[in-house]
Amino acid sequence: MKLKIETSKRIELVDITSEIQEEVRKNEIPEGICLISTRHTTAGIIVNENESGLKEDILNLLDKLVPTSAGYRHDRIDNNADSHLRAVLLGASEALPILEGKLELGTWQRIFFAEMDGPRNRTIDITLLRA
Ligand code: ZN
Repeated sequence: MKLKIETSKRIELVDITSEIQEEVRKNEIPEGICLISTRHTTAGIIVNENESGLKEDILNLLDKLVPTSAGYRHDRIDNNADSHLRAVLLGASEALPILEGKLELGTWQRIFFAEMDGPRNRTIDITLLRA
């Protein structure tokens, strides 16, 4: 199934945990795997803590590792090489276990759609596998 979201900044982390949990619950899968993936090349899917300071730290880290307009070749045709490179570091999917009809997440774990070239309309794919 697909989850549509609208991002509001060039770079931001959007918590999609409740939407994913709801899909898992509706499908009544007692045990299995939930694959959360995105087909976009300038966005990622990550799992971490939803704390405002930490979210800023993550975005600052990405900015430090991949500064904007640092002479990238892709900028000659599209001017968003930093977005693609940051997405490469994050990865395009996360697979999480489902147990007793729910996502098995750690106490502080949340699932984020990581927008690296917004604001845009984005699509996330949710694939559920029954064990
Ligand atoms: Zn591009």
